[in-house]
Amino acid sequence: MTIAGIQIEVERKKIKHTHLAVYPPDARVHVSAPDDLSDRDLRSFLASKIGWIRDQRKTVLCQPRQARREYVSGESIYCLGRRYKLLVVVEDRYATEKMTWGGNKLSLYVREGASRGHKERIVESWQKAMLGESLAGKMKGWCRKLKLALPEIEIRKMKTRWASCLQKRGKIVFNAALGRVPARCIEYVVVHELTHFEVSNHSRAFVELMDRRLPRWRILRKELNDFIAMPMEEV
Ligand SMILES: [Zn+2]
Repeated sequence: MTIAGIQIEVERKKIKHTHLAVYPPDARVHVSAPDDLSDRDLRSFLASKIGWIRDQRKTVLCQPRQARREYVSGESIYCLGRRYKLLVVVEDRYATEKMTWGGNKLSLYVREGASRGHKERIVESWQKAMLGESLAGKMKGWCRKLKLALPEIEIRKMKTRWASCLQKRGKIVFNAALGRVPARCIEYVVVHELTHFEVSNHSRAFVELMDRRLPRWRILRKELNDFIAMPMEEV
């Protein structure tokens, strides 16, 4: 389907709500629409979102490409918004693998012949541990403030969202990619997800609570989305 000269992929699904997203790196526009929504209604929905689509396409196309890391010395690795320069130290086959960090230097000690995937796993588990620590502190502080029971936390790789709140199970799943972003952006995600325990959607009531709790949440959200190329979801 083409709207205002922009090609849009349409996927029909058994869903209730239309879901629109712009994906990096090439700003592909994808819409999942309910089976029973007519083409005409879908067109008018998309036409009403054209300003948003154009903005997101611009943002996605301007994001620096995230080249695949090779995990070799000299590469930049981000953790909690801080940029580290990687130094890979190759040791003999029996050495203990570990990571040390200080200042802006990150040293990765691996055995001879360690593969790219292996080094990636070590670095990612470090980022995950650092994220876990940061999340635990923020969740505790905010739960106390909002008088909420502390939810269970899970961190895993997710493709299209920063986090998701499973209200009924008292659990929040966070995207492991948050391990790379500044702590203040993590805080925005924490407050957003905790607020979902009170308001499940993004209605006005939700926005009002966010405004009261974290007045600069919009700036943080933008910073977060600028930091890592993620599919831009229409929310
Ligand atoms: Zn939300």
